[in-house]
Parts: sequence; C-alpha cells; structure tokens
Amino acid sequence: MILELESLTHRYGDELAVDDVSFGLEEGELVALLGPSGCGKTTIVQAIAGHVRPTAGRIRLRDRDVTEEPPEARRVGVVFQESTLYPHMTVGENVAYGLASGDIGAREREKLVTEYLELVALRDQRDAYPAELSGGQQRRVELARALAPQPDVLLLDEPLSALDRTLRERLREEIARIQDETGVTTLFVTHDQEEAMALADRLVVMDEGRLSGNATPRVLYESPPTPFVASFLGRSNALPATVVAREPPTVAVGDRELELQSSVRSPPTGASVTCHVRPADLSISPPEAAGASGTRLSIPGEVVTVADVGRRYDVTVRTETGDELVVELTDDPPTAGERVAVELPRDRIAVFDADENERQRLVAANETRG
Ligand code: ATP
Repeated sequence: MILELESLTHRYGDELAVDDVSFGLEEGELVALLGPSGCGKTTIVQAIAGHVRPTAGRIRLRDRDVTEEPPEARRVGVVFQESTLYPHMTVGENVAYGLASGDIGAREREKLVTEYLELVALRDQRDAYPAELSGGQQRRVELARALAPQPDVLLLDEPLSALDRTLRERLREEIARIQDETGVTTLFVTHDQEEAMALADRLVVMDEGRLSGNATPRVLYESPPTPFVASFLGRSNALPATVVAREPPTVAVGDRELELQSSVRSPPTGASVTCHVRPADLSISPPEAAGASGTRLSIPGEVVTVADVGRRYDVTVRTETGDELVVELTDDPPTAGERVAVELPRDRIAVFDADENERQRLVAANETRG
C-alpha cells in the first residue's frame, strides 16, 4: 500500500471534522475522495501533506509512519483549488522551485523541468509569467510543479472547481492522461459526483467527517452501502417499509409483501426499514397489475406530475401508502391524474435500517450472498 490512513480523527476545538477514517491507496491507483462541502476532505488532504497534525490516528506512506513528520519529510505533491504559483517567477522557474529542496544538480533540474512541461504540453510557455497564461494552463503548470519531484502520492484538492464547465471537462481528461502516463498514485478530492465517477478507479465517500463508502463507482452506485451513498451518487427514492419475515427477508409496503433476494444482516421482524430504489430502475404499468410477484412489487398510485426534462420524463407518483416515487421514463409517459402501478424490481432494492442512529445496510440491491 502506498498511502494508508488508520483511524484518522481530527478536531478543530470542539468541532469533529474527521471521525475515525481509514482507507488506503494502492500503487498507481486514482482514487476520488468525494463528499459535500464541510465533510472533512480538505482536513484529510492537509493531514496527509503534513500541514495538519491529526488529533488521533496514523498516516503511513510506503509503510513508513509519517504522522509526526513535517511536510518536507514526506514525498507528497499537492495541487489546491486556488493557484499557488509565484507571480514573479516564470513557468519554468515555478516548476523548478518544486525541485529546489532536493539534492539534484542544475542540469538534472533543467531536464526534469523540460520533461514535466512537455508532459502537460506547456514547453513553449516556459518563459511566460503565470499572469500571461489562461486558468487551464495555470492548473497544468501546478500539476507539472507537483509531479516534477516524483512524489509517492499526488493530492489534488478540488483542482478544477474554479474553472468553467467546458474547461473542467477538458482538464479532467488531461489529468486522466497524465496520471496514466506517469502512473502516480493519486487522491483526487471533489464534491462533484459526476467528476469523481468519470475519473476515478475507486471512490471514498465522506459524510459529516465519517467514511460512508469505499468501492468502485459501479459497486457504490448499484449496491450502495449506506443511505447517504444511495442519495449522493445519483438520485434515489426512499420508501418506508416493515420487515415481516427474516428468512428469507421479506418486507411489506402497506399490505403488499415482497421477498428480497439476499440478506447482509438478518433484520428483526417488525423492524422499520427504508427501501432505496433509483428512478431509472422503476417502471409503470396499468393499475390492475398492482400486487407482488416473485420478483417485483407493484404499488398502485396516482400520477402527480410529469416533467419533460429533455432526454427523459420524470414522473412523480403518489402511492396509496402516501409516499412519492419518481420514475424515469424514456417514452410513453402517463398523464397527471392517471391511476397507475409503480413496479419495483426486487434485485434493484437496497434496504436500510430506518433508525437514524443505526443506518446500516440490511439488504443489498444486486448483491449475491457471500
Ligand atoms: P470544503 O469543500 O467546503 O472545503 P471539506 O469537505 O474540505 O469542505 P473541511 O474543510 O475539511 O471540509 O472542513 C471540515 C469541517 O471542519 C467543517 O465543518 C469546517 O467548518 C471545519 N473546519 C475546517 N477548517 C477549520 C479550522 N481551521 N478551524 C475550525 N474549523 C474548521
């Protein structure tokens, strides 16, 4: 493991910013650290870089405990959201500055500056000053400066947030190419789910200082480990239900029962649970189809609104149990006021404990029993 965080915890006074977070990065991986504003992402980056001394927990780089070591003793490259280029230095001098503390000769330094400016396609701008570059070019100089010392880990803290959408998407591809070419182990911090899912091999999802999910984008999307991941990565409907049998796990929504496919932890009979299912996984059928078959639950209801959002329709249905479900349809939408049945396929339902203090996954969508 190149980078390993073990039970990392950080408080700012009474504020618990990072709460017992553990995860690691393997050599060459590109991992996104994803979560909403204030969930503790920057604190984790600052702790890895050595600018914040964690309240508790350990940080290891290449199996060496660096928790107590100063930033200069760690081989970590960082690019922040805001530019930290020196305005009075040229592009070449800025990149060389990152190499200044190393014990390398002038010739080797020149060679590395050229190599890394080439990597970010800015060799011709070597003598320009940062103010003469576009926002995207400045980001690339910062990448070259962070990469030239050949760090063990590259930390990118919301590096694209200050850029407009088109440039962000272009630079995202550029970062993927550079990461692929250099093979540098990278932690990419973002609050943007789409950016994280497009770029990363794996996502580490944070919620209020705690780790809420750690897996590939597909696994987290299709089989979310927590209600937070279910709703943060794409849209999710939450439907209250009750456990009516343990083996096999069976839930009831109103008076309709459905046997679920696998159980992570057997929920007690009578427990209140929440079923999460994505709008694109729901479908609509005529109301007389309502009921439960072996593989799906059909719940009757009335169409409240139909929104034409371009490539699809978002159909909101109020069910007979009083819940509202959003169904994504690509064609043939019903009309508002129409009676319908909403179909929930059982292999797309993830079930969580409804207790706010103990929101663990009970039954996973799309997961085979281990
Ligand atoms: P953002 O994307 O908004 O920067 P973040 O996910 O990076 O958010 P952090 O910046 O790590 O989150 O902040 C985590 C929590 O710690 C927040 O509640 C924040 O208000 C608090 N916090 C961060 N820095 C300090 C500080 N220097 N002093 C006190 N509280 C802080």
